[in-house]
Amino acid sequence: MTQLKRVGVLTSGGDAPGMNAAIRATVRACIYYGIEPVLIKEGYKGLIENRMKSADARSVANILNLGGTFLKSARCQEFRSKEGRAKAFENIVTAELDGLVVIGGDGSFTGAMLLQEEHGLPCIGVPGTIDNDIYGTDYTIGYDTALNTVVEAIDKIRDTASSHNRLFFIEVMGRDAGFIALNTGIASGAEDILIPEQEKTIENFMESLQKSGRGGKSSSIIVVAEGDRSGGVFELSRAVEENFPEYEVKVTVLGHIQRGGKPTCFDRVLASRLGVAAVEALKNGDSGIMVGVRDQQVVKTPLDRAISKHNQIDNHLMKVAQIVSL
Ligand code: ADP
Repeated sequence: MTQLKRVGVLTSGGDAPGMNAAIRATVRACIYYGIEPVLIKEGYKGLIENRMKSADARSVANILNLGGTFLKSARCQEFRSKEGRAKAFENIVTAELDGLVVIGGDGSFTGAMLLQEEHGLPCIGVPGTIDNDIYGTDYTIGYDTALNTVVEAIDKIRDTASSHNRLFFIEVMGRDAGFIALNTGIASGAEDILIPEQEKTIENFMESLQKSGRGGKSSSIIVVAEGDRSGGVFELSRAVEENFPEYEVKVTVLGHIQRGGKPTCFDRVLASRLGVAAVEALKNGDSGIMVGVRDQQVVKTPLDRAISKHNQIDNHLMKVAQIVSL
């Protein structure tokens, strides 16, 4: 067991619901284990600008149920440079931090990895991103909340779609990964789902629309991930308008609504588990790893592996989507 005096915690990159629950768990785990927790504002920017404050158990009261991150997140260009990280490390030395918990996505983990490699500071990553695109964990914090937000929005859109002869393209987040699109598409009864992992051209899409006999169907919902490779929602909508004049085609981009809202029970529990696990990992002498969950168990993955690839899309789930949309 490593004797730790002070541990810092920050949130970085894209915010996600449940980050507050992870901060709270980290702070309280520190106190439980006799470590002084230090809150760092605005991610790596706050580290460089020395915006740190010691916390106690009450500093994180009443944040468990709130979306976003009360520490604020930031995208910090300066931290990408060696000099920027050296400046951050000077403040870390002055604040006498023995370790750092970084709640964020793969960009934030890259920063943590470099900080650790260059200056030897033990860093632990906690996966906080709605995209679920981090290897080494079945779920990232914020993903479940985002899924529920999207499904609720699509249910509402379906009400209006089915009242008219409308075909809706709904763009959801996921630049590199189709997890949100695939799962929300199935859960909301989408007629088709387009994701970046799948090679599909506009022509392929038009063919399947034609084949399925959906031309003339009373309404259709097509869920499209941001990173879909068939041209994006606006291109697709133009193509359908030209080929299926019987449809009134609409596009909805759900955008940042997907990042907000109160975290679900699932995300609060996940964030609590991982916040505690991060502090326990530091105590255990771990460094340069991410804590995640696999098959209901907390697992550790080296940061370089966590950022090296994504989890694979489940082929059976793809088949399920196809079958249930008949
Ligand atoms: P996310 O963590 O959600 O993937 P970003 O990719 O924006 O979000 O990364 C968050 C922050 O992490 C960046 O603003 C930057 O400060 C730091 N970071 C990202 N990539 C690197 C990198 N290659 N080297 C050093 N720091 C990085």
